[in-house]
Amino acid sequence: MNLSSVEKKRTNRNRIYQLIYQRGSISKPEIAAQLGISLPTAIQNVKTLQKEGFLREGEVLDSTGGRKAISVICEKNARFAIGTDITRNHVSIVLINLATEIIESTRFEAPYENTPAYYQKVVELITALVTAAGVNPADVLGAGFSVPGVLTKDGQMIIYSHVLQVSALSCSTVSRGLSYPAVLCNDANAAGFAELWRHKYRTNAVYLSLSDSVGGAILLHNELYPGENQRGGEFGHSTLVRDGLPCYCGQKGCMDAYCSALVLSRHTGGNLALFFERLKAGDAELQAVWEQYLSYLTMALNNLAVSFDCDIILGGYLGEYLEAYIDDLRKSVARITTFLGNEDYITACTYKKEAAAVGAALLYISPFIKQL
Ligand SMILES: [Zn+2]
Repeated sequence: MNLSSVEKKRTNRNRIYQLIYQRGSISKPEIAAQLGISLPTAIQNVKTLQKEGFLREGEVLDSTGGRKAISVICEKNARFAIGTDITRNHVSIVLINLATEIIESTRFEAPYENTPAYYQKVVELITALVTAAGVNPADVLGAGFSVPGVLTKDGQMIIYSHVLQVSALSCSTVSRGLSYPAVLCNDANAAGFAELWRHKYRTNAVYLSLSDSVGGAILLHNELYPGENQRGGEFGHSTLVRDGLPCYCGQKGCMDAYCSALVLSRHTGGNLALFFERLKAGDAELQAVWEQYLSYLTMALNNLAVSFDCDIILGGYLGEYLEAYIDDLRKSVARITTFLGNEDYITACTYKKEAAAVGAALLYISPFIKQL
């Protein structure tokens, strides 16, 4: 067998697996038809993948006479991955399967400390989570760590994190004692990746993370675009107002100073849920704050819309409250945008709290699916 036929075989096998993964359930004749391969090739590959534990039989399909066809589905629990989201005050850990279902999760308050004791505790909790789920550690592909900061391209070092107040922190320090491969990921990139993954019809999107700081992610052709210096999607430091309010980065007028969740929550003692509760109840003072906030967010969204011309997903701490206001926001953008049209490309995120942790775990699920 020459190299190209080996290659072709591998490609066929992976195309078949990915098609079944995307479709959820499909018959063998349909696989052959969809991929333009012979039925025996489809049957042989499905058989092998079934034997390896990655596929199994699904439901009996309606047939027009003859033998009833049985669909093929993915064995979603064939592999797992861990995602850990480290923030200034909390740690969230999820264990997901190949279908991105959260099998086990935990979220707890733990002020970040750059100490061996802190990392040891996180690693112990990850290990306990896998044990609690009854998952064979050999089936865990790896552990992704989402952190607020700028990272090296290989995800093995935090270059700098303002939120965590650390620099030059290695992944091996964070994951010491963990018996899985580990990688670091920027939190907004991770959350954006998770949102995109959930919407399979999207291939390009911009994710805007509105948390206590503003970040974002650019997702092109189903992949993160990190930029030449890992700073792609740092929308929080785009300039909205020349010589405007001071930003934590040292500059003035950054979007962060106008659009972070703190701009709202500082009016309710740091409690964002309370802000939206009172806003809903008709608090006039908060209404004015909210309108001011929306006017800046509108500018930022229009800038993103003309720069990227794709779906914009709003997430971060604010994400879970935005659904009720998304129409207002779309109308507001429509009033200032150059390219009049339908503003329904602006959507609220679908995850509530776990997006970054799920996205970090996907760093292992995604390549696994692509190479299987
Ligand atoms: Zn800034």
